[in-house]
Amino acid sequence: MTRLLIDSCEVVVTVDDAGTEIAGGSILVEDGTIAWVGTGDPPLKPDHRLDGRGTVATPGLVNTHHHLYQTLTRGRARDQGLFGWLVELYPVWARVDEEWERAAARVGLAQLALSGCSTTTDHHYVHPAGAGDLLAVEIDVARELGVRFHPCRGSMDLGERDGGLPPDSVVETTDDALAASEEAVRRFHDPSIGSMVRIAIAPCSPFSVTERLMRESADLARQLGVLLHTHLAETQDEERFCVERFGRRPLELMDDWGWLGPDVWFAHAVYLDEKDVRRVADTSSGVASCPSSNLRLGAGIAPVRSLVDEGARVGLGVDGPASNEASDLFGEIRQAMLVSRAMGPEGGLSEREALRLATRGGAEVLGRDDVGSIERGKRADVALFPVDGLDHAGASDVVAGLLMGRTQRARHLLVEGRFVVRDGRLASADEDEIAREGRRVAQRVASNA
Ligand code: ZN
Repeated sequence: MTRLLIDSCEVVVTVDDAGTEIAGGSILVEDGTIAWVGTGDPPLKPDHRLDGRGTVATPGLVNTHHHLYQTLTRGRARDQGLFGWLVELYPVWARVDEEWERAAARVGLAQLALSGCSTTTDHHYVHPAGAGDLLAVEIDVARELGVRFHPCRGSMDLGERDGGLPPDSVVETTDDALAASEEAVRRFHDPSIGSMVRIAIAPCSPFSVTERLMRESADLARQLGVLLHTHLAETQDEERFCVERFGRRPLELMDDWGWLGPDVWFAHAVYLDEKDVRRVADTSSGVASCPSSNLRLGAGIAPVRSLVDEGARVGLGVDGPASNEASDLFGEIRQAMLVSRAMGPEGGLSEREALRLATRGGAEVLGRDDVGSIERGKRADVALFPVDGLDHAGASDVVAGLLMGRTQRARHLLVEGRFVVRDGRLASADEDEIAREGRRVAQRVASNA
């Protein structure tokens, strides 16, 4: 049994129910768990100390939507909306393989960790024939880097020939998609407290998936006790598609198909009207809001203020790097706050509310009550951000200065009490080597185009 004291932070932002912030606070970590939070001497003698001076401690950030494989296909279809962007990128993604997946996951997960993210999901829905064991590859990378991982076994079974958007070369049969989803849960899912890997089942979107796959995925997930995830109400294109094909708007469709509930979370949820927002909240469904991606693709602005006020579960997601152009979850806090104010100051999120979405909110979306806040008994997922440098000279409220200012690299990140980032560098991998390998494989991907 070893005890680590994170000693004398400028502020510990606990994100507990009361929103407690502790100036000069310290955190005692014992065997992967937070044993004590307070000021002064801890109740038990630590074996090691980590100097928290000059930092703000927050819960490790929780990312609720991502597509890691896209890390190697950035900067493409730059002036397109969602459908045009997808049509340009699907044929590129159709060539994904294990080498690509590994290099992309290493770059993406390293970037996330360095932005203070301790738990992330990934939504991998491109499984061309012969691509290899992509889910196993990314789980292996998450283990290497030490982040908590919730990969979603995504799927598409509605190709162009059946009226869907993706080319037929990137879709699976419905039966194959369901069998692979079940296999992923049986191989990798760990429901225990402190789990480092949990699987969700995640058909991609209303315009790339059949009704049968949606309905049977929901049945399967409920039978296996895992969560459900999909893209929803991202753009007006999608809404039009749903109305033309099914005579329903996206959220109405989910209601029809049994896709609302505490075991479901949606990426985006931009095009929700007031009734939809209440329905999401009343059914305890979750939302991964991805403001940077929504802006990059000109999708729109999600009604996050209303969702939060109605009591829905809401987290933040970076979304794939082909639409975000980064895997910077810390930066997404500021983005969420700024975007919420675009229509006027009344509906705006405060910087602390945006942090809550990126921590506790994300944990709630992923069905975890063991992470997301710095409280006794929670798993020891803690990010420490610097507030002693040039970027913060002049902030009277260091927490507000940190959250509202320029994005920061975490000085330290602990996951399950273990260092993932130490002194601003990855603790278990070589960042420069990851970057070199990422560039090499991205060049191969580009040259195959
Ligand atoms: Zn997405």
